[in-house]
Amino acid sequence: MIKPLHTLLAAIGIGSLHIDGVWAAAPLPPDADRQLARDMLKTLIEINTTHAHGSTEAAKAIQAWALTAGFAPSDVVLIAPPDQPTKGNVIVRYRGKHPGKPVLFLGHLDVVEAKPEDWSLDPFALTEKDGYFYGRGTIDMKDGDAALAESLIRLKRERFVPERDIIVAFTADEEAGGDSNGPAFLLEEHRDLIDAGMAINFDGGGGNLKNGVPFYFEVGTSEKTYVTYTLETTSPGGHGSLPGPDNAIYRLADALRRLEAYKFPVMLTATTRLSFEALSVADPGPASADMKAVAGTQPDLAAAERLSQNVRLNALLRTTCVATLISGGHAENALPQRARATIQCRMMPGDTEANVRAQLLGTLNDPAVGVTLDAPPIVSPESPPTRQILEKIAVLVHSMWPGVPVIPTMATGFSDDRRTRNAGIPSYDVNGIFQDADENRAHGRDERVGVRAFDESVEFTYRLLKSMDRSN
Ligand SMILES: [Zn+2]
Repeated sequence: MIKPLHTLLAAIGIGSLHIDGVWAAAPLPPDADRQLARDMLKTLIEINTTHAHGSTEAAKAIQAWALTAGFAPSDVVLIAPPDQPTKGNVIVRYRGKHPGKPVLFLGHLDVVEAKPEDWSLDPFALTEKDGYFYGRGTIDMKDGDAALAESLIRLKRERFVPERDIIVAFTADEEAGGDSNGPAFLLEEHRDLIDAGMAINFDGGGGNLKNGVPFYFEVGTSEKTYVTYTLETTSPGGHGSLPGPDNAIYRLADALRRLEAYKFPVMLTATTRLSFEALSVADPGPASADMKAVAGTQPDLAAAERLSQNVRLNALLRTTCVATLISGGHAENALPQRARATIQCRMMPGDTEANVRAQLLGTLNDPAVGVTLDAPPIVSPESPPTRQILEKIAVLVHSMWPGVPVIPTMATGFSDDRRTRNAGIPSYDVNGIFQDADENRAHGRDERVGVRAFDESVEFTYRLLKSMDRSN
């Protein structure tokens, strides 16, 4: 464990702030590299990599860039599951001086579907407008893919030789669908290609802006996982003109109301304790004292209750379950014989399906409500928020954005990290993009990334690859 906390916080930038309304611009890559990264982003955005199209074409583009840059053909492996040729991955191995476990960098190539009629611009073209690049994948996560690919080429040109091998894997099928998930396929069938002592996944973490100024930088160490249940009630049914007391829809609705009112117990992890402690210092707003109070060894439950009014903080404090689908009855003029609801729970790392189910049954409190598990959850461990990893990233972050606090965080969603973490590879989410904390266009309409933010991220990625060339 990390002790004492205040020395760690000082090392990662907490309590040594700087922001007095003045912000020095972060360094940018050389002009030629900046342009190359933008060109790569454009190429990748304009290759449609939604689930239906697959990622092989994008993987081939990256393969061609790497080969042109001088990587040996045997170190640039394009590979897809034999029965899914469109779900291609490309893995670039940058040879180091010494043997030993490499560091693996991960970026997924696929994007979420985008319907042109829903957007105000063409989602599959890169449009620069008002200081932003627009297009599907500009923030999730072809920005990171372009930054990784460009940095590999820049390092090769500079004849950089890392201490140990660096592996950069551009992978398939992270988003919806996901039946040919790249990291899962590679770990199961070709582990040698991506085996590593540590993984850095660009699909999370990164910088938050407040009023346009860098506020704090996240290093993702853990994530929640989901578990889905179907609730079902039945009743005798009959003619709609003769309602009686036993009605499947009312019975289900009553149970759902009890679930709505229920709050799972407050649960903290090594990471969320550090997050709350660090945020209480970095953000001296009205919630600061409450954040400090929940971060203690005995979390203050009244403070947790106040913080839980904010949906995001609530999700960080506990497992949640929510009704997401409902159906019931069979005709407008008949009494229902059956009603069903889907409940999706998001479990804290360390929570168990058995525990969630026990609380669910206790809350629904009606033996006539059937509860079935749709599929066992994929649970994955927290990667420890060690001082070593946090300080290393903090040094790098401060070389770009001096004094910005580096805070370990748990994601409320999930990513390919669960695959690598479950394969025994500690995995951290890091990327160099700063965006407004309230901006939330990933998977949505008019997805975008700041032009300046993208350029800075290219320089950050180059420095990150250069400094993370060993797993310890
Ligand atoms: Zn993503």
